[in-house]
Amino acid sequence: MKNADELALFGGIPAVTSDHHDLFKWPIITEEDETAAIEVLRKGSMSGIDETLLFEKEFAAWLQMDYALGFSSGTASIHAAMYACSIGIGDEVICPSMTYWASLLQVYSLGGTPVFADIDPVSLCIDPIDIEHRITERTKAIIVVHYMGHPADMDRIMDIAKKHNLKVIEDVSHAHGGLYKGRKVGTIGDIGAMSLMSGKSFAIGEGGIFVTNNQEYYERAVAFGHYERFSANIHSEELRPFAGLPFGGYKYRMHQVSSAVGRVQLKYYDQRMAEIDKAMNYFWDQLEGLPGIRPHRPAKDSGSTMGGWYAAHGFYLSDELDGLSITRFCEAIRAEGAVACAPGCNLPLHVHALFHEVDVYGHGRPTRIAHSLRDVRQGQGAGSLPVTESLNARVYHIPWFKHNRREMIEEYALAFRKVIGQYRKLLKDDPGNPPGAGGWNLSAHALVPR
Ligand SMILES: *Cc1c(COP(=O)(O)O)cnc(C)c1O
Repeated sequence: MKNADELALFGGIPAVTSDHHDLFKWPIITEEDETAAIEVLRKGSMSGIDETLLFEKEFAAWLQMDYALGFSSGTASIHAAMYACSIGIGDEVICPSMTYWASLLQVYSLGGTPVFADIDPVSLCIDPIDIEHRITERTKAIIVVHYMGHPADMDRIMDIAKKHNLKVIEDVSHAHGGLYKGRKVGTIGDIGAMSLMSGKSFAIGEGGIFVTNNQEYYERAVAFGHYERFSANIHSEELRPFAGLPFGGYKYRMHQVSSAVGRVQLKYYDQRMAEIDKAMNYFWDQLEGLPGIRPHRPAKDSGSTMGGWYAAHGFYLSDELDGLSITRFCEAIRAEGAVACAPGCNLPLHVHALFHEVDVYGHGRPTRIAHSLRDVRQGQGAGSLPVTESLNARVYHIPWFKHNRREMIEEYALAFRKVIGQYRKLLKDDPGNPPGAGGWNLSAHALVPR
């Protein structure tokens, strides 16, 4: 007979028994989205900008920003944000290594180079303490990523930026609608740029958007990749004489099926985000006080939030469970029916050869230093960013609930409680961690059971 108390890994009844239905399904697509998309197709306006202009206006109003500009991808929006900030030949940008590559890799094509800083072990965002000593005469900007929904320490980052006259680009791809001390992330730095692709918490299909209160940045971004708007009504005296052709040689406008869906998604986003926030906090509250695990979320009275909890993760403290490996821990959780639980997050970028050896454009030397007066690779190899490099053994995916269904969430919490309650039984055949948890993308959505 199967026993409910026994760990499922050893033949017991799994903690999660009910069908998850649409508990994890994302984005939520209704007839309203479908109608909006079909209208664009029927009008044949997939490549226009009429729908995108409306989406931008509504998106800017949502964030209370003066300008929003739609893009074909988040990658494109960040690329244009860099150009808007005048990042060019030989310039350095200080950025985290623990992020998706599109937070920073576009800088190569502008002749700039990344300088990686470590992350804060609690927020998992760029650590303000590790920024200042990396600033040189060539530093132009700081790129901040509100990693896996957690807001970065913007007060301290903005102080540093002001002191050294640096621009701040916020990559909001993980944290749409999230708050930092009561303020929306993406509205605090010079530019907020973000992905809106289907896996993100604000999901419209392939697409990106950037927001700013600065007309010059907006117009430089238009000039870079939006030729159809780079016209006589540009205010900048520097840009206007050259209207007509895109400076970047890029065509970056948003597909209008995406903008149409985006307009519908925006109407419901705050409400859906609030539902996710309740569900995720309820899950963690169920697990309060257990050894070995901690939530990745800001303190409750901080005024900061996790937005839509994109790719939600938890911390793992192996020491509190007699050294049980995160690999074995996650295996036992998955056996309980919480199938999305896997160790790791993004792989650290700074150890990849693209930041050390590869000559992308034929400069005759590695692109990382193609235009540098100093070798920025020095002190940036393996072992140089200890918090970043140890992270993959300290975090795991947790279920990303889209609905606050308490009874079902309790089943997932039970999976964690069961495993932690009997962790000693798992020590015996613990194989330890294989090298290389994590991946080049955060594939939480891929781990969602269909
Ligand atoms: C997804 C993502 C991007 C890139 O966005 P795309 O829309 O996929 O081009 C940039 N930065 C981060 C942190 C991301 O997660």
